[in-house]
Parts: sequence; structure tokens; C-alpha cells
Amino acid sequence: MATTVTTPATTPSPGPAAPAGPAAGATVSPRLGLGGSLLLLVSIYVAAVTSVALRPEDNPVAGWWPAAGLAVALVALSRPGLDRLLLVTVGLVAVTGLANVTGGRDWGISAAFGVANAAEAVVAGLVLRARPQGGPPVLVTLQDFVRLVVAALAGGVVIAVGAALAVVALADGSFLSTARSTFTSHAAAVLVLVPLALTWRTRAQRDRPGELPLQVAALALSVVLVFMPAQQLALTFLPLTFLVWAALRFDIRVVAAELIAFAAVTTYLNALGWGPFAAEIDEGNTTQVSAAALCQLYLVCASLLTVPLAIVLADRNRLVAQVSAEEVLFRRNFTDSLLGQLILRIDHGVLRVADANDTAAEVVRRPAGTLVGTRLDDLLSTPPELGARLVSGQSWRGRVSLRDDDASRVEVALSRLSHPGDDGSPVWSAQLLDVSAEHVARQGLEAAERLTSATLDTTAAVILVTDREGRIVRANQATTDLTGWREEDLLGRKVSETTLAASATPDLEALFVWPNRSGQPVVREGEATTRDGKKLRILWSNNMVRDEQDLPAYAVLTGIDVTTERASSGLVSHLMRAAITTAIIGVDQDGLITVFNAGAELMLDQDATRQIGHRFVDLLDPDQVAERLGTRDPAQAFDALVRGIGQGELPARDWLWMARDGSRRIVSMTLSATEASVTTQVGFLCVGRDVTEQRQGQDMLVQALEKERTAVERLRALDEAKNEFVSTVSHELRTPVTSIVGYTEMLQDGTVVAPLEDQLPLFATIARNGQRLIVLCNDLLTLAGLDSESITWEAEEVDLGEALASAAAAVAPMLHERDLTVLWETAEEPVRVVGDPTQLERVVMNLVTNAVKFTEDGGVVRARVEVQGDEAVLSVTDTGIGIPAEEQSNLFQKFFRSSTAQKEAIQGTGLGLSIVAAIVSAHGGTIRVRSEHLEGSTFTVRLPVKY
Ligand code: ADP
Repeated sequence: MATTVTTPATTPSPGPAAPAGPAAGATVSPRLGLGGSLLLLVSIYVAAVTSVALRPEDNPVAGWWPAAGLAVALVALSRPGLDRLLLVTVGLVAVTGLANVTGGRDWGISAAFGVANAAEAVVAGLVLRARPQGGPPVLVTLQDFVRLVVAALAGGVVIAVGAALAVVALADGSFLSTARSTFTSHAAAVLVLVPLALTWRTRAQRDRPGELPLQVAALALSVVLVFMPAQQLALTFLPLTFLVWAALRFDIRVVAAELIAFAAVTTYLNALGWGPFAAEIDEGNTTQVSAAALCQLYLVCASLLTVPLAIVLADRNRLVAQVSAEEVLFRRNFTDSLLGQLILRIDHGVLRVADANDTAAEVVRRPAGTLVGTRLDDLLSTPPELGARLVSGQSWRGRVSLRDDDASRVEVALSRLSHPGDDGSPVWSAQLLDVSAEHVARQGLEAAERLTSATLDTTAAVILVTDREGRIVRANQATTDLTGWREEDLLGRKVSETTLAASATPDLEALFVWPNRSGQPVVREGEATTRDGKKLRILWSNNMVRDEQDLPAYAVLTGIDVTTERASSGLVSHLMRAAITTAIIGVDQDGLITVFNAGAELMLDQDATRQIGHRFVDLLDPDQVAERLGTRDPAQAFDALVRGIGQGELPARDWLWMARDGSRRIVSMTLSATEASVTTQVGFLCVGRDVTEQRQGQDMLVQALEKERTAVERLRALDEAKNEFVSTVSHELRTPVTSIVGYTEMLQDGTVVAPLEDQLPLFATIARNGQRLIVLCNDLLTLAGLDSESITWEAEEVDLGEALASAAAAVAPMLHERDLTVLWETAEEPVRVVGDPTQLERVVMNLVTNAVKFTEDGGVVRARVEVQGDEAVLSVTDTGIGIPAEEQSNLFQKFFRSSTAQKEAIQGTGLGLSIVAAIVSAHGGTIRVRSEHLEGSTFTVRLPVKY
């Protein structure tokens, strides 16, 4: 076996490993499982046995070694891990060594070749696996291909050195020849076989089904043409063109598969001695070994030419597909975009629309077809300097209105899509967003905010708005007016840190606690201190504002200054306590006591705390309640009690209230309704005054009066009985006395029998006393008649002058034996009165008779009648004995006789003046007396004059 020594092939530097290339995408190189590995080991064995068996007779090494490609693929695609690698290595050593033995080599060199082959496979496989981005080896980018080339070279060097050393040592062969031969055959095997191993599961492109058979036929034809026996033409390049065709038109897997087929056929034909490389053997210009090496080198070239081309073209196809997909995507985005999009070109410094999507037409409110060619500033009120700005390449964004509608607002973003100079006119894109609605909404919001501010600042109540943490974010003008704190003093501070509502924190927390969804404000009264240190009472009503997600966002604290009200209510409670003589009891609508003041406590000896909450009706005497209200049921009784009260007040009425010891107090009680405007609780107010003593005093007085009245009545009855008796007696007495007097007069004047001289004074005495008795009886009867009002009075016109003249005539006999000057004075005109002439004459007669009777001889009596104003005046004046002053008050009483009259033994009954007074009074007149003891008297009677 001759050893062909050739110069070793130089190992091209693989260059630095490229960073991670494009993702493998559809290219997947699965790891080998146990079945695949064993299959591959069997294939390696078969290939190696075949190669060894078919090696040239004179050559210790095979001219081709496809087993190397399979072995590298096995290592490259086996699962990671050192143990797996060791197993594969041992398997390779064994399989390759065994194949060499099977092929007829001795054990020594077989073992050496086994080790060298395994070492080659491990080195090349590890190079393939050393991908920066990890994962199983693939063949997608040029970097992957470079790595493949480096793996082939490294593996080739390893096997070349290993095999050459083994041949030199064990078979006495040529080092160089062996190295050259193994290097080319192994490198070719790796470069031809591994590409398919790395790509055989790549997704196939089936877009040119008819072209592939044509290309395969062309390739086969060219191979046949080139490798015909004794082919002399230099057509070695021809098959390469058809392989390049495959690389240009089909995917890398097809190329890799065709490459293997091409290599197998070429190697086989070359081994047969056909084709250009073996053609010179017969001529002796070359050896079979060299021809085989050349053939393998030829295959290396084929692989180096076609595989990277296929990779690059696949890469390009991918990029083209990607770009066109992106273009489609862009176009779809452009058309379907919810944003208005315009493509613009700058034409002489003016932006014109080159394209527009439908949304843009909607935004600018123009028909889509009319937009192309329109100036941008005809559509939108863009700033005038925009053109110059864009020429300098800066992008721009802003909010502008539509040319046709100042109220509209469009958000515009202009950005350049291409650089100026690319095709002469730079392209710009404008993105348009119609924010008119938002603009209108914002204006509405601002108006609402202004309204809110105006409302806040004109409200008289303190209003604080806080965030969730209780920090003040708004304070109105009234806050400053009432407390002196300005809004800037308060903003950002927690409410609890101010002097306004120090106790607000729990309320705010309660407001913001999620379950508190009632919407009811939290009301609380608290103390606040003004900036000047003045204390205020503030009634807070706190509520919260929810955001659009219904979550608590703000708290609004509204405070009303109730300092004055509280001060006056303090006064009221003070008054309530102070009113200890008046019971003031508040009652709610159900008749339960709510207020029980000190006066009520004192009055009933009850404790207020025990009474509050009890029924008001229970304070009243149950019997009286039943009697007056018609029921003993407390609830019904209370209803009956307050019925008809309305909004007014029941008049005071005495009720019996029960004290604690069961005693009854008489209480003058008023009941009035408390109005809803004063307090939230509508009820009643009872004001009671203890009138027990007063009423008892009243009762006693009534009883005394009653007794008195009874006594008077009894007296009157007695009086009447007396009058009855007197008038009966007088009446019964007058008749016999009259007859006595009559008969006596008959005895005196001798009508019956001539009287004796001695008898005459006796008869005279009988007659005089009888007369007196008759006068007495008449007077008594007159008085009795006056008292019993049984007398019927005449009502005639009477001339008092005539009455005076009648009296003068009647008195004349009395004056015969007297030495008196009696003057009768009457007016010239009649002095008329209305009355009973008999009675009035009696008045004149009585007064004149008294004057004559009580005036001693030598005295003067003057009787006078006249008219004074509208009165008829009768006056009787004498110069007689007069009446002591102390006795004058009794003058007109019955049976009165002055002490002087009694002393002087002047006869009389004491009835005359009382009759006169009664008659004058019955005529509507008056009688007066003016008298001095022993110096005379004047009686004056005044009666209404009759015109
Ligand atoms: P009588 O004249 O019958 O006693 P009167 O009623 O006329 O009763 O008078 C009552 C008394 O008043 C007399 O008793 C007398 O004391 C006194 N009196 C009446 N008129 C005069 C008078 N003109 N002067 C003095 N005393 C008089």
C-alpha cells in the first residue's frame, strides 16, 4: 500500500465568533435520542467498513470517509453532559475500531484509527456546539457556517495528525501523504454531511415544485457529463453551477441533500477511475490517492460555494418576507388606525398631504378623497413658523384648532419619516387626535370649578375640603371671615393639626371606611379656636365625594357657627335650673318625659333622672284623668290631653299632680307644642304652677262669703218678717185707734152726750195720743211699704211750689200757738219734677214740721223751692236746736232721735226722716243736712228737674 504524501492543507482562521445572529426561527436541530444515536453508530460502522473495504489497494488510508461526517453529527447533536459525551466517545472508538478490523486492518492500527476518529468527532462536534447563544447547533447564519468550517478544519487536523502518526508508527506509511489524504477526506465528509444533519428538520419551502426536478436532472446530467469514463474536457466546474442553482432557488436542506448525493456519486465515479481527477492516473501523471484527495477537495469547494450561498439567500428571503410583512402591517396600521394619520411632503417649504387615512379625514372633517394635495395649514391652524422648523428636521407637536372651527381642538404630532435628500422631498407623518370633546369637557369642568369656587366663597358656612389623608385642599372665604385663618395658612395641613376641628380625625376615618356607604353625613359639634384665640362652637356636617370608581376621594367638612345659639341655649338651661317655683316638663310625641326641671323636682319631690323617659300622664291623678279624659289607658289619655293642641297652646287648667308621697298638688298647667324649627324633636312643653294654697284660700273665701250671704238672707227674711209684723200690727192697731179717736171727738163735741168740764182735758189727751198713735201707724205702714217696694208710685208732673203751698196750709194750725217767723219762698216759675205728688208733699211737710218742731219761739224757719241748673232744690232752714255732729250720720235711720231732742222731750217717732230719705231716693234725688248743735239746721233735697 503506497502512501501518498501531500502538503497539509492550511487551516483557515475562523475569525472571532460573531455575536448572536438572527434567531433560528423555523430552524430546529433536535438533539439525538438513544435510538437515533445507535442508528447513527450503526451507520458509522457500515460507512467505515465500506470505506475501508473500498480503499485503494496500495493505500493504507481510505480515499473518502463519510463516517467522519456522521460521527461529528453524532457528537454535535447528542444531548449535553459529560457522561453522554464520554459514552458517545467510547461508542465511536469502539465502532470505528471494529469497522477497521472488519475492513481487514490489524487490531493495532484499527484501535489507533478508532481513537483518532473519535477524537476528531469530539473536537469538531464540540466546536459546533460552542454557540454563544447556547442550544443545539444549527445552520442559519454565516457565523454558523464559519463554525462548521472551523469544526471541519479542526477535526481534519486532529484526524490527519492522528492517522498519520498511527500509519507512520504501525504501518510504516508516509506521514504527509496520510495526513493530506485523511484531512481532505474527513473535512469533505464533515462539510458535505453535517449541513444536512443540522438542517434536515428545517421547514421546507415548496413554492417551486416544478423547478426542482429540472434542476436535479440538470445536475445529474452535468455529473454524468463530467464523470464519464475517460472524460478529457475541463468541465469540472459545470456541476457546481447547477448546485449554485439549487442554492439560489431552493432552501438549504435541498442544497445539503443534493450536496451529499453529488458527493456520493462523484466519489464513487472517481473511485471507478472516471472523471477528470482520475483521468491522469492511467497516464501516470497522478496516483489514485491524489485523485481521491482532489475529488474530496472538489467536494469541499462545492460545499464552501453552495452552503453559504444558500444560507445568505435564505437569510435574505427571510428579511424580504419580514419587510413585506412589516409593510403590510404598516399599511394596515395606517389604514385601520384609530389615530388620524397623514403622510406629508414638504413642497417649497409648504407641507402638503400625500396620503391620509379615513380617521384623519374624520378628524379634519373633510371627505377622504379631497385631502391629497391639500396644504396642512389649510386644514389646521398650525403656527406660521412650522415650515421653517420642519425644514431644520425637528419634530413638532402641539394642540391646534381646525381652520373651519375655532372651538375644535386637534392634538398633532409631526415627525419625519425620511431624511431630506433621499428622494428630494422629505416625508413627514402627522398623527392627529381629535380632542374637541375633551376640550369642551375641560371648559365645562373649568366653568364648573369656577361655579364651585364662587359657591364655596359666597357660602356663609365654613367649608373645608380634604383628601383621604385629611389634608386640607380647599378652604372657602367664610373660613377666613369666621376664623381669621387664610386659605394659604390651611392648605396642606391636616385638619386635626389646625385649631378648627381638632377632633375631626375619627369622623374622617369613619367617612373613608369602605363599608360606610350610607351617604349620610357625619354630624358632630366641636370647638374651634380662631386666629385671635376666640373660642367658637361649630356644628360640623361631614360628607365625602367619590371618584368615578366609586371610591372615597375627598371629604367635605361644612361647619356652621352655633356659638350664639349655644350661649342662649346655655341661658335656657340655666333658666330651667333656676326656675324652682315653676315646673317645666318637656314631653315627646309619645308622651314620654324628656325634660324635668328643678321646679318640677321641688314641686313633686321627684328626681329628674327617675322621671325622664317615664310617662307624663303618670304624674297626674288617675281618677281625674279618667274623669276628664274618659280613659285610664296612659297612651290614650295623653292623646286625648294633647288633642286639639295643634301648633298652639292649651289654656291654663288646674290639674291634680301626684307628689312622691302620694299627696295631691293643684297645679295650674299649660301645655304647648314645641315647633320643629326650634328642635328636631317635636314634642310638648308643660309649664305648671303650684296653686294649692291659693286655691285653698279661694275656697275658704268662697265659703265665708257663702255664710255671709246666708246670714244676710236670713236677716233679710227676719227684716221682712218684722216689717210684716209691724205693718200687720200697725194696720190692726190703726182701725181701733181711729175709732177711739173718732168716738173721743164725738164725746168732746157732745154729739152723744154733753161732756163734763172735767172730762174735756181727758178727752183731749185721749184724742191727742190716739192721733199720735195713728201717725205712728201710718209712718210704720209707709215705711213697710217702702221697704217691701210694694208701694205703687204715681209718676206725674209735680210743681214743688204747689207742694210748698200745700205744706204751708197744713202747717198753719201748728203755728197759731207759736212765735215763729216762717218764710215761704218759691220761684216765680213752677219748679217741676216728675213724681208722686202725695209723697213729695209728705217730704216737704215732714221737713217743715221738723223745723217748726225743733225751733224755739223767736226763731226763724225758711222753706224755699228753686231751680239750680238742672235740679229742683228744696231747702228748709231753721235756727233751732240743731243736731250734734257725731249723731248726724244716723239721722236718716229709722227710730233715730237726737240726744238733744230726747233731752228736750220733744215728741217724735224717729221715722219721718227715714221716710223722707226713702221717697227722695225713689225719685232719683238726694238729701243732705248741714247742722250745728244748738245753732239750727238746713235740709236740702235735690231732684231732677222736669223741663
Ligand atoms: P220725729 O220728728 O218724729 O222725732 P224725725 O225722723 O222727723 O222724727 O226726726 C228725727 C230726729 O231728728 C228728731 O227726733 C230730732 O232729734 C231730729 N231733728 C229732725 N229735724 C230737726 C230739726 N229741724 N232741728 C233739730 N233736730 C231735728
